[in-house]
Amino acid sequence: MIHLSTIPVEDKTAKAPSWKELLSQSRLSTQALLQEVGLENHPLASNSAESLFELRAPKPYIEKIEYGNPNDPLLLQVLPQQAEHNKVEGFSSDPLDEADYSPIKGLIHKYKNRVLLIASSTCVINCRYCFRRSFPYSEHRQSKSDWQEALNYIRKNQQVSEVILSGGDPLIHNNDYLFWLLKEIDQISHVTRIRIHSRLIVSLPQRIDAGFLQSLDQLNKAIIIVMHSNHANELGDELAAATQHLNEKNVTLLNQSVLLRSVNDKAETLAQLSEALFDIGVLPYYLFILDRIAGAAHFEVPIPEAKAIHKELQASLPGYLVPKLAIEIPGQKSKTSISHHIDEAIFP
Ligand code: SF4
Repeated sequence: MIHLSTIPVEDKTAKAPSWKELLSQSRLSTQALLQEVGLENHPLASNSAESLFELRAPKPYIEKIEYGNPNDPLLLQVLPQQAEHNKVEGFSSDPLDEADYSPIKGLIHKYKNRVLLIASSTCVINCRYCFRRSFPYSEHRQSKSDWQEALNYIRKNQQVSEVILSGGDPLIHNNDYLFWLLKEIDQISHVTRIRIHSRLIVSLPQRIDAGFLQSLDQLNKAIIIVMHSNHANELGDELAAATQHLNEKNVTLLNQSVLLRSVNDKAETLAQLSEALFDIGVLPYYLFILDRIAGAAHFEVPIPEAKAIHKELQASLPGYLVPKLAIEIPGQKSKTSISHHIDEAIFP
């Protein structure tokens, strides 16, 4: 058990790089990544796949990759691979038809009482399976004045009770910009909750700095952070410190994962993640079936196998630590939960 109170949220020494420096160094080549993790080459790697989706991974994330292990589950999530060039039927550049649900630049209104803001166009880590890897971010890039149209849309739509900041990663912005936007949303009376989706908090937990924590005090709405971790090896002392401070600020912390071939496709691996999340004050929320984005077919775990893994997971954990197995189906008004049928042998 980590004694959280002993861990400061800010850099331990004056020389430690700031999160902004780490962010600025997160772009690297496939060869540089392999060198960092002690591999001369990798049987699955492809330099040319960088042109499909650039390689980004911050140093704190790379340091969690096991040195010299080509099968490391963190490495496989960020390594550009030859398989990304494969054209596979059923996999497309916009698997969720998001373009159909964007009435205003930077805003997606798919579900009745929730809107999603594309609050940034980049991430500190580029996950090779990302369903927005081909998203036309440049069409949704927003200055403060550009946001007025989206904010007016929320102001006019009284049924919107929750605003979700997604991206890219919203936490990539500095505190001034991020909290300007959050405060604008916070002032809309019919909005009761603000949710931030972030993988940056996992890959670069140093981002939760003193300025971020102090700025949270200026918000009145309930704040939820849904972080995105797929494997227990991604967690660590810095994240534990960050989540402790966020819990002290009454931020609700949830986690969502994507079920990924060769990364977390074992019930035991997922159970370790749920246990490790609970230890740092985060509850498992969703376990998603991969969205069928072009270039990511090699990560897919078919639904029957996913159900079997999830059933085994249920048997090994208390219910509150079992994430909901779900899939996003274009056109549906909510995520679709994948349930298990009652065993007819028990209830004939
Ligand atoms: S951090 Fe999220 S949005 Fe960014 S590449 Fe990874 S999965 Fe996609």
